[in-house]
Amino acid sequence: MRGRVVAIDGPSASGKSSTARAVAEELGFAHLDSGALYRGVTLVALREAARRGRAHEDPLDVLEPEAILRAAEDRGLMLQPDGAGFAAYLEGEPVDTEIRAGRVTGSVSAVSAVPVVREWINSRLRAMVRAGRDVVVDGRDIGTVVFPDADLKVFLTASPVVRAGRRITQRGVDPDPQRLEAEAAALAARDHADSTRPTAPLRPADDAVLLDTTSLAFREQVARIVELARPLLARR
Ligand code: C5P
Repeated sequence: MRGRVVAIDGPSASGKSSTARAVAEELGFAHLDSGALYRGVTLVALREAARRGRAHEDPLDVLEPEAILRAAEDRGLMLQPDGAGFAAYLEGEPVDTEIRAGRVTGSVSAVSAVPVVREWINSRLRAMVRAGRDVVVDGRDIGTVVFPDADLKVFLTASPVVRAGRRITQRGVDPDPQRLEAEAAALAARDHADSTRPTAPLRPADDAVLLDTTSLAFREQVARIVELARPLLARR
């Protein structure tokens, strides 16, 4: 039996993960962060490159994608159920902080553009849902590729400057104009890489509900999605 699926897609720092987590909590579903798996595979790639004494090179120049995925399996990269969601583990240790470090963020777009990496991750995400869990999954291609038959699809957007401001504030630093400009440029570069890659580019599914959060408070955006999802709760 398949679980119910709410897909939340959108660009970097559109608030997908925090929104998905809060929506999942309200619905009593589990939050599944697909970006955590892309980041996990990237961390594996960086560690394997370092093990070969080539820590400062692009890991895709050091290893074939198949070797990275073999290492991910051998070293036990997984998302394990953890309260209302899933936490990333590698080599038996939680790596949720490490996968969000700058080095991983800098390499993740390139690693996630590799088709075999995407297939490997997609099959893991689908297996987690086949196990019967109700989930809110966030990512870039959840409504278009991973779960095209999701029960509800939402595509979140927000202006680059607003997204940059949110990301900087999250880090606990002051969003001064210089930081804002640098962060907005980095986000724009990642958006561009994610939306122009040939495999599973970032784009809304035809049947997704578009939600522009530029001038929405966090609680408001969560409430809108919960409202859209409410009919699902009666189903089953
Ligand atoms: O959402 P987050 O910023 O953690 O995702 C990190 C990166 O993983 C994205 O920039 C994107 O390159 C990739 N990603 C993806 N498809 C997904 C989720 C994430 O390509 N479904």
